[in-house]
Amino acid sequence: MPAPSHIKRWSFLGLTLLAFTANSEEDFNLWLNGVRQEAHVQGISPNTVDAALTHVQPIPRVIELENNQPEFNQTFLGYLEKRATKRTVNVGVAMLEKYQPLFDEIEAKYHVPRYVLAALWSMESSFGSYQGDTDLIAALATLAYQGKRQPFFRAELLQALRVMDTYRIDPQSMRGSWAGAIGHMQFIPSTYVAYATDGDQDGKVDMRASLPDAMHSAANYLSHAGWRPNEPIAVEVLLPNDFHYEDAQATLRYRVSEWAAKGVRPAQGNPLPNVDGKAAIVLPQGWQGPAFMVFSNYDVIMDWNHSSSYVLTTAYLADRFQGGDRLVGGQSVPREGMSTVDMLQLQQTLLSLGFDPGMIDGISGARTQAAIRAYQKSKGLPADGYASNELLQQMQMTSEMVVQNTR
Ligand code: CA
Repeated sequence: MPAPSHIKRWSFLGLTLLAFTANSEEDFNLWLNGVRQEAHVQGISPNTVDAALTHVQPIPRVIELENNQPEFNQTFLGYLEKRATKRTVNVGVAMLEKYQPLFDEIEAKYHVPRYVLAALWSMESSFGSYQGDTDLIAALATLAYQGKRQPFFRAELLQALRVMDTYRIDPQSMRGSWAGAIGHMQFIPSTYVAYATDGDQDGKVDMRASLPDAMHSAANYLSHAGWRPNEPIAVEVLLPNDFHYEDAQATLRYRVSEWAAKGVRPAQGNPLPNVDGKAAIVLPQGWQGPAFMVFSNYDVIMDWNHSSSYVLTTAYLADRFQGGDRLVGGQSVPREGMSTVDMLQLQQTLLSLGFDPGMIDGISGARTQAAIRAYQKSKGLPADGYASNELLQQMQMTSEMVVQNTR
């Protein structure tokens, strides 16, 4: 789950930590009493609440991790190549073979392909090997008490208590990532409560120790999120030279036949998929990078984790697990991303040229991308909305010319 970042908070990190230590233990316990009361009102048993909250202490490291602002924005291919190595593909194929009966059973029940589940398993916990070992209640209490998204994490803390109560999990076993995600598929507590199922039918739901429980629950989630059987998440495509790059937006959808009529072709050997719904073209690394046609199931995986790099890498891994080829596009585009400092500079330059990038935060969000497209259009450049160092240099030259002309 990518957390929104705020430069302002980041620059005040020292102050935040200081505030943390300055707050007395008394204040925290007072706050925790409020959580206890809310848990009682929600019908969570007092025994569970006592067992979970009695010795809870905030974990300062969790706040450090939440405030951690990366120095560089990752490019799509940089992200993908880190997560979809040759080794990942080999392990995935071996795991699919090892757990074939489990995947057979899940495909028959939920109609979600095994390759997609295995890809998510790889993305979430590296096939179960990185599930996190942080005290989950303490981590959630810290984020709910002191973090940047307190209401969200307070609700998750209460849901975590409900998980313990419903599934009779003792506090020592409530462990996961620093951000509150649990088990093979890194479910947050609210997702756990809503979609967890007892896959191996032993009367308990254990997302950490039981792979069948975690896998069934993930398939159950995707099925409820609207997974369409027999449709891919995304396929790589090649765009015609006269393609209008403004058309490449996840929200702009046409029928596959309409894209084909515009000259969009499959990048690999297979024909474009025949699907009922509409499709969009997504360029995660600008017009010079690989191009993808995305379908309804792209939205389903976005619902799981709202990051196009995450979703497209999952789609790519799923494809590789079933014998698909490497990507064709983007061979020569840079893998290293823009630094946060350069991204801030790019946003400021956009603003100075009269294009509103939204919040100057070092992140290329929807408004920054729209501002980039508007700038690119005004210059007759491919309007892909992609922030890059090349674009920044180009813009700075324009900016200097504007200054000279107005002198
Ligand atoms: Ca079970």
